Amino acid sequence: MPIDAPFLQKVDLKNLTRDDLTAFVVDHGLPAFRAKQIFSWLYRPGISSFAEMTDLSKDMRESLAKEATFSRLIPAVKELSSDGTIKYGFRLQDGKMIESVLIPEEDRNTLCISSQVGCAMACVFCLTGTMGFSRNLTCAEIVGQVCAVSEDLRENNLGSVNNLVFMGMGEPLANFDNLIKALTILLDELGLHFSERRITVSTCGLAPKIIELGQRLKVNLAVSLHAADNETRNRLMPINLRYPLEILLEACREFSLPRRKRITFEYVLLKGVNDSDQDAVKLARLLHGIPAKINLLPCNEAPELPFAKPNRLIIDSFQDILKKKGYTVLIRSSRGADISAACGQLAAKSSAR
Ligand code: SAH
Repeated sequence: MPIDAPFLQKVDLKNLTRDDLTAFVVDHGLPAFRAKQIFSWLYRPGISSFAEMTDLSKDMRESLAKEATFSRLIPAVKELSSDGTIKYGFRLQDGKMIESVLIPEEDRNTLCISSQVGCAMACVFCLTGTMGFSRNLTCAEIVGQVCAVSEDLRENNLGSVNNLVFMGMGEPLANFDNLIKALTILLDELGLHFSERRITVSTCGLAPKIIELGQRLKVNLAVSLHAADNETRNRLMPINLRYPLEILLEACREFSLPRRKRITFEYVLLKGVNDSDQDAVKLARLLHGIPAKINLLPCNEAPELPFAKPNRLIIDSFQDILKKKGYTVLIRSSRGADISAACGQLAAKSSAR
């Protein structure tokens, strides 16, 4: 009996940066310039097959289709919040679900994307943290969220995605290689063509990777700080045991050095835990000398979480203290809470679905 040829998985071209694709194309006996053509087709809205790549010969399209594929994410769930926020649920090839959240603002559309299924960081105030870690997203799955939402907006005449934040499920810096590849495609003028100023990577504080990110690319950084002393931060965020505040802030200093760009520090206000005036004073001291912008996030409550949002007076007082010390401080209103799309609320539901 003949032995079947081993099943060869086709290469998903959306996992390749333009340089990777050039190597792939040359490897397959085609001239390098073909990579440029193919790459730009991959990120054009609505393109779903090689047959549509009309500047390639029929032979070329057919042989590409034998060896390669390019994945597309199709929203399995789409929920609209009363405040205009849209939550997209995507079912991945292995059946796992991830979520992305579109936040329409006056002057722009911000898309919040996921980098992992679940999260291993186990921050005690975050629902994604309570679901545990399942797997890293591939580069194609990260970029695919942006492609899918952009297409949906286009179809509904809702404009385009102008701003990207890696603040969905997962810890982006724990999926570093795929993150860098995805960012490279997002920034590529023939890819999604985002400007570096319009992409923000948010981290719970993987200090060495912060430095590495700063060396590789010039995107914006947000750091989820949430406490101004190690004792409190250790209790809230296990990552602090590995990279305590001194090390984290040293990495932030190094990150911001070459460009003097401001880093965004996220601070979730948890009633009675980290919301006192003394905490605000400590925070001001801690960030001294770092070009910083502070976002205060009043805790999004959930029945599973033992934390509450402080009252307005406490939140205002916390903000005032920081402002008086010269910081730019915004209180981030929570968007999409009615559809569980707000910060820290992603994915617990989809995993149970
Ligand atoms: N892992 C990355 C990316 C996730 S961003 C990071 O930690 O930065 C999601 C943001 O929502 C983080 O700042 C996170 O700390 C915050 N968050 C998590 N749970 C929250 C909650 N219950 N209320 C408000 N913000 C929360």
